[in-house]
Amino acid sequence: MILMKDIVYEGDKRLHEICKPVELPISEEDAKTLQSLLEYVVNSQDEEMVNKYKIRPAVGLAAPQIGVLKRMFAIVCYDENDKLYILPLVNPKIIEHSEEKVYLNGGEGCISVTRPTTGLTPRYKWIRFEAIQWNYKRKVFEKIRMKLEGYLAIVFQHENDHLDGVLYVDKMYNNLPDCKPVMEEPDEEENENPEEK
Ligand code: ZN
Repeated sequence: MILMKDIVYEGDKRLHEICKPVELPISEEDAKTLQSLLEYVVNSQDEEMVNKYKIRPAVGLAAPQIGVLKRMFAIVCYDENDKLYILPLVNPKIIEHSEEKVYLNGGEGCISVTRPTTGLTPRYKWIRFEAIQWNYKRKVFEKIRMKLEGYLAIVFQHENDHLDGVLYVDKMYNNLPDCKPVMEEPDEEENENPEEK
């Protein structure tokens, strides 16, 4: 089980290495690594586990964040319509993306970065990727191709960047005039006097 002591933190050069593709067929060891990444993310979203093991909540974790320099990560995350995505992925690759860029309102965060940050990281509004997915229900690896938009696309790009040795803080800006926030900002006028409408 992955705990905070197993996490590789900012300042460690392993977070800036380009990870190697996972060799196929996927070895038992690599499959176990991927499953442990998935297990961490699932546990980190369970209040009882968070309190018991003092783990930091996350929507994704990449192999280099536990010192394994191979192209694997796991995402467990809801989209804007409350649809759950469970994506333990091997050798993911972005094959198409939007021109339009967005940023996460308030900026991103990362298990490997413990200092507070305030900048914004530009991301494609949508991406299409190919990968090998661990189908945890059927216990098999499957080749998949999927389009992700909005928040999920940002999470994917954040994790995928880890595989290329890039942290969100490496491409963080104070403002991004050419990008929109991924989530609609509440309209202040409407919030001020809702009863009057
Ligand atoms: Zn991260």
